[in-house]
Amino acid sequence: MNIILLGPPGAGKGTQARYLVETRDMIQLSTGDMLREAKDSGTEMGKKVAEVMARGDLVTDDIVIGLIREKLEGDSKGGFIFDGFPRTLAQADALEELMASTGQTLGAVIEMQVDEDALVERITGRYTCGDCGEVYHDATKRPAVEGVCDKCGGTNMKRRADDNEASLRQRLMEYYKKTSPLIGYYYAKRQLHRVDGLADIDKVRAEIEAVLD
Ligand code: AMP
Repeated sequence: MNIILLGPPGAGKGTQARYLVETRDMIQLSTGDMLREAKDSGTEMGKKVAEVMARGDLVTDDIVIGLIREKLEGDSKGGFIFDGFPRTLAQADALEELMASTGQTLGAVIEMQVDEDALVERITGRYTCGDCGEVYHDATKRPAVEGVCDKCGGTNMKRRADDNEASLRQRLMEYYKKTSPLIGYYYAKRQLHRVDGLADIDKVRAEIEAVLD
């Protein structure tokens, strides 16, 4: 089953996607991760998007659609989890076409609902293990040993350049302006499921599993 995780930055999409990858052999397709990889490896495209991402603006549809197209041609294993894509109606249309052309279907769109105050706290406190991608938080999820990843033992903890309050405000504005119309769109297509993204991680996980099953 292929699913979209929809929600503002900090809603917990990445955390839930990682869990589904581990337990259901699904493939996480995070356009944010792909763009950060391109930026870190210094490709032309990476250089082009770096500033846009730092500001909290969306990069162009063409770029992200191209990234997703490449991935859809590969093995889908237990299904794709679209995390941070689509973010515009044009991206949603492109996804539909791409899936049809590769003989795949979209099973569900899961909207993770959260209120804005919680997001600022979640985002400004979060960091990840640079080796395995496990997500941590200063207040709510610290590793057992400070600076050492519980999952892989790595010590390369990273904070995102755009996880500051100014960029977050802009990312939220982009979300409400360009991405939130997708909620109505998928609702009309009867594909939308809503979960309470403010509940604790295991409860959110259980709600998502109920949709998948
Ligand atoms: P994320 O990791 O999903 O929060 O994405 C980080 C940043 O990458 C966003 O603020 C955008 O600048 C860019 N980005 C990621 N996914 C998309 C997308 N689907 N469309 C446009 N820009 C994106």
